[in-house]
Amino acid sequence: MKVWGGWVFTREGFVEGWLNPLTKEIGLGRPTEPAKRGVIFPAFRNCHTHLGDTDARDEVPDDLSLEELVGVDGWKQKWLSNQKGSLSLESGIREAEKFGTGLIIDFREGGIEGLSLLNEIDTPIQIVGLGRPGHEGENAPSENIGLSSYVDVGEGIVEAVASKAKNENGIVALHHSEKKREELSPVLKLDPDFLVHLCEADDDDLIKIKSEGVGVVVCPRSNSRFGLRAPLERMLELEIDVGIGTDNGMFCSLNIIDELRFIAQEFSSIAPLDLIKLACFGLDKTIDKFSKIKIENKGYVIMEERGENPEMAVLDSKSEILEVIW
Ligand SMILES: [Zn+2]
Repeated sequence: MKVWGGWVFTREGFVEGWLNPLTKEIGLGRPTEPAKRGVIFPAFRNCHTHLGDTDARDEVPDDLSLEELVGVDGWKQKWLSNQKGSLSLESGIREAEKFGTGLIIDFREGGIEGLSLLNEIDTPIQIVGLGRPGHEGENAPSENIGLSSYVDVGEGIVEAVASKAKNENGIVALHHSEKKREELSPVLKLDPDFLVHLCEADDDDLIKIKSEGVGVVVCPRSNSRFGLRAPLERMLELEIDVGIGTDNGMFCSLNIIDELRFIAQEFSSIAPLDLIKLACFGLDKTIDKFSKIKIENKGYVIMEERGENPEMAVLDSKSEILEVIW
C-alpha cells in the first residue's frame, strides 16, 4: 500500500506532506517511500443540511416561492408527511459520503421520531442532529435544537424551547433573515450558537452578530435558487465564525466541493484559500465550544493535482476525487 504524497491542506494553508491511508498517519515534508501523488484535504464540513428532503429532489416544483416550498404548511411539509422511515435521510448521507464529508450538522424535523431516524443509518460521517419539537406544545427531542426561524416558531414558544436547550448546555441554531430582514434583537436574546443564511441582514446586524460571538452558516447555492445572496465578503471581513452548508437536499446536492466551486465563482473577491478553509474548518469556533461535536473522525479526501497551484485540486471543476479515507 503506497502512501499519498503532495500538498496537504492545513489551517495554515498548503504544506508539503504525506498521508498513510491505512494508519491515517500524516507527516510533513516529502515522503521517504514511493508515493502516489494527490492533494490531501481533511474531510469536508457541511454545517447546514436538511437531509430529510433529499429524495424530493426530482419532484420539487420549479415555480413555487420559498414560502410555498419550505414555509409552514408548504410543499415540503406535505411531502415529508407522506414519507416513512429513513430512506430519504440515507440518500443524503450516502451522497455526502461519496464526496468526502466528515461532519454534517443537520436540522432534523419530525420531533423525537425524526431525530431518532439518524441512529438507523450506519455511516463514517459524524452527524450532529439538531432536533425540534414535532408539533406545538411538544418538548424538543434533545438538548440541541435547530429551529425554522424566530418568526415561524413564534414569540414565547421559541424562548421556552431555546432556554431549555441552553439550560442543558445544548446547541441553539435558527434560520434568520433569509428572504427579508428580520428583527435581530429578540433572536440574540436567545443566546444562539449560530444562525443560518442572513442574506438580508444589514451591516449593524452583522456587527452585532460578531460582537456577540454568534456563528453563521451560509448556503449560497440554495440562496441563488431564490435570487438571494449572503453578504459573505463582509462576514469574513468582520471575522465572524462562518461555515458553509448545502441546505435542503431537495434543492442542492450534498457535495461540499460543488458548493465551494459555486462560491468561488459568485464571490470571486474572496481569496480561494479562505474559501477552502470554510469547507475544511468552517464554523470552527462554534464547533470548538461543544464537546459533543469535537471532530472525532479524521477522514481525508485526496484530490487530483491540477498544475502547479494546489487550490485548483478542489476548485477546478475537472478535478476528481482520487480517494476518500475514513
Ligand atoms: Zn435550512
